[in-house]
Amino acid sequence: MAKEVMKKIIEGNETYYEKVDNWEEIQRGQSPKITLITCSDSRVSGHIINKDMVNFVFHIRNIGNQIENNFGSVDYGVQHLRTPILLILGHTDCGAVKASQKDFSKETDEIKKELYPLYFNLMPAVNKNDKDDKKYISRLVQHNVDIQVMDAMNRYTSENTFIVGAVFDMHKHYSDKEGRIIITNINGLTDEDALKGHPLLAAIEENLRDVRVKRL
Ligand SMILES: [Zn+2]
Repeated sequence: MAKEVMKKIIEGNETYYEKVDNWEEIQRGQSPKITLITCSDSRVSGHIINKDMVNFVFHIRNIGNQIENNFGSVDYGVQHLRTPILLILGHTDCGAVKASQKDFSKETDEIKKELYPLYFNLMPAVNKNDKDDKKYISRLVQHNVDIQVMDAMNRYTSENTFIVGAVFDMHKHYSDKEGRIIITNINGLTDEDALKGHPLLAAIEENLRDVRVKRL
């Protein structure tokens, strides 16, 4: 198995480097436009935004897309690379969010260290009566994104960065199509109508905005 995977790494990279035709630009240095924080979940790749994310996304990942675990890296993206957007992207069916709601006492200390903040952050949103609802975990995911946006707002007060919270909807919990990125928060704003009218989304066609801005 590992041997096959290693083959994929090398052969995949062989195909990749042959396709790239702007090495000179890449070699001059990076100039990403998004600092992106996502869960480490392998289904939530930067490629969900576009196939070619090279030099466009400064991508930081950890379980549960938690900003406080990686403030150093996020500082680098926001303060040094000055990306105009800091996107905190949760996803439906997040294993880290689910794990934070179960007994995780037997995990390693390092995993516990990353699950405790989720557990405490989500506590106010937990409603045992809703647990059978298939969107229950997604609601917690959305709440977690709100908390992460708030933490980012407290830290990046003077930078000209829009802080955007969103959820990658793999399970059609927000609309009738899977795979969409749904905007749930901009700079702490969570009202659906206010979000739809936010100047940051002004260039997006109205029909598209209507399905891409939603709260559970
Ligand atoms: Zn996850």
